[in-house]
Amino acid sequence: MTNFNTNTICVQGGYEPKNGESRVVPIVQSTTFKYESSQQMGDLFDLKEAGYFYTRLANPTNDAVARKICQLEGGVAAILTSSGQAANLFAIINIAGAGDHVISCSTIYGGTYNLIANTLKNFGIESTFVEPDISVEELESKFQPNTKLVFGETLSNPSLNVLDIEKFANAAHKHGVPLIVDNTFPTPIFCKPFEWGADIVTHSTTKYMNGSANSVGGVVVDSGNFDWTKYSEKYPGLTTPDETYHGVVYTESFGKGAYITKMTTNLMRDLGSIPSPQNSFYLGIGLETLHLRMERHFANALAIARHLEKHPKVSWVSFSGLENDSQYELAQKYLPNGSCGVISFGVEGGREAAVKFMDSLKLASIVTHVADARTCVLHPASTTHRQMNDEELAAAGVSPDLVRLSVGIEDVNDLIADIDQALEK
Ligand code: PLP
Repeated sequence: MTNFNTNTICVQGGYEPKNGESRVVPIVQSTTFKYESSQQMGDLFDLKEAGYFYTRLANPTNDAVARKICQLEGGVAAILTSSGQAANLFAIINIAGAGDHVISCSTIYGGTYNLIANTLKNFGIESTFVEPDISVEELESKFQPNTKLVFGETLSNPSLNVLDIEKFANAAHKHGVPLIVDNTFPTPIFCKPFEWGADIVTHSTTKYMNGSANSVGGVVVDSGNFDWTKYSEKYPGLTTPDETYHGVVYTESFGKGAYITKMTTNLMRDLGSIPSPQNSFYLGIGLETLHLRMERHFANALAIARHLEKHPKVSWVSFSGLENDSQYELAQKYLPNGSCGVISFGVEGGREAAVKFMDSLKLASIVTHVADARTCVLHPASTTHRQMNDEELAAAGVSPDLVRLSVGIEDVNDLIADIDQALEK
């Protein structure tokens, strides 16, 4: 399936039924799996044999959907998690622990910012946040001997900055650490970060991948390109015996699958955060139309952004598809065929006017969500980013008047009419 084009993988990737098996990925809603002998079960525990024994560690429905996303991103291994937050947490703490340091782009989702700046700090992991347009020299000066990874979002939520993936990947590799990229907003339909040097990709599958806002989920995909053994002293968890798992050395036993295998055997074992097979089934169904939906999301958003740009009641519009947008040039490089359906803009009159506008919308609903089939709006400064002070808000590219409009796949003329009547009010 990996030789097929992205659109075909969306529909058929990850699952190839054998003769007489169900055509659709079955929902294996079972916590456990039966074996004839204790020996067989023991071999599974020792990782001598591959097979299912407990859904927290592996489940056929979850695996089929993870495989599809892995193929879409062009990776070697992937694991589903119960949320996007869990995906980013796992991606980081799989290779960083107390006493370590991470570098992150400052323009990231508020929840991920909080995770890195505060929760991981409480775990003993220090962080340095850098502006997306930081110079190469300055970026390189931020690395410390204990830096274990660099983190960024392809298209940041909600400020919509395009990550210069090559710049961040080159700096990371020069200092012997991987680049982790959260690719939630463009999805692999519009950007495949591995092609630009990223080593690990994460997603909140809650968003476009699921597409219908019916289940929270996440995924971590490994490109298999980062050579952990070259920097063995930095990543002992992958390159030396894991005494909590029969002394296995992940890089020796699993090669390019080392990172995801360790995530399964250590983090899923100890922290849980596996999605229910039912939720993974919904995700799999959503992925079958991802290519069609992303095209429509982008086309609708571009038409609305062009409309807003000319509207007298709108003070500014941020959408990388607009020719005069500050991100246009980077978008032409990394997102030449489209970006996503999310637009940020400011309503004349600031915070109060923004709230009035949102309350007057009829089709677009106010929800704490983005990136599904239905158009929705959010005021980040008073919701998703409310834990940030003004300085942190500014660094994350969130102004008090910023309205985040997540354009769905409805008829664009109906959406524009709704926006116009709300702006009038
Ligand atoms: N990453 C990005 C870019 C997001 O936008 C979000 C949520 O909005 C997350 C991660 C967290 O994902 P979840 O809500 O599925 O935990």
